[in-house]
Formats: sequence, C-alpha cells, structure tokens
Amino acid sequence: MSDIAVILSALSSAMSIAKDLKGFETQIKEASFKLQLADLYSNLADIKVEMADLQQSMISKDDEIRTLKETLEIKGKMVYTDPYYQMENSEGTLEGQYCKVCYDDIGKLMSLESLSPVSWKCGKCNTICTRDDGNRKPFY
Ligand SMILES: [Zn+2]
Repeated sequence: MSDIAVILSALSSAMSIAKDLKGFETQIKEASFKLQLADLYSNLADIKVEMADLQQSMISKDDEIRTLKETLEIKGKMVYTDPYYQMENSEGTLEGQYCKVCYDDIGKLMSLESLSPVSWKCGKCNTICTRDDGNRKPFY
C-alpha cells in the first residue's frame, strides 16, 4: 500500500470517529462543541478530497516518469548510420532502419521500407533516403 493509501485509510477512520462523535451532539448541548465538531468534520472531508486528488496526480507523474525512462532508454540505443537510425540490441549489434526525419522531429521510431539496396522510404513522412555506396562514378 502506498503512503497516500495509508493516509487515506487513516483519514477515513478519523472521519468515522468524527461521525460517531456527531452522535453525541444530542447528549452534549454545548454549542461550541457542536461548532468544533462541524469544523473538524468539514476539514477532514476537505483533506480526504485533496488527498484523493494528490494520489491521482502521483499516479499520473509515475506514468510520465515511466514513459520518459523508456524514451531515454531507447535514445541511448539509437545510433545514426547515414542515412538512417539503427537500434543497438543487447549484444551490441545494430538492427533495423529507422526514419531520421520522424525520429528527430517527433521522436517516433518508424521502420523504413527498402526500395533498393541503397534507398529506403518512410511510410509515415514519405521521406526517401539514399546511401552513397561509394561505387558511383561522379557526373562530369
Ligand atoms: Zn519518416
């Protein structure tokens, strides 16, 4: 159980006790007691709502941290090998061909479709990238 869940549980118990004390209102006629009890119950209810919001916020933050960690882990494995990115696997071997435009612009890994031994196309942004194989003769 998380710390907030423990606090929420303790708060529920405190609210239950406050409710029980409210039952003694009829026996205790003092107005200040009734006023203090009403304030206590109101404050406990406010705290319970705030704690539930805080718990939801922490869950969202945990999700965001997990996503950022995954993104960072992937980023550490990406290697640019002109004209595309490749991902380093656990054995240190580079795998796949990923679009440079999509990864650099939006951080999205888009596999490239092979058009020829030296050219590839991205199915998302339609970028065609080519690798100079070094065997071409220069134009004169
Ligand atoms: Zn692309």
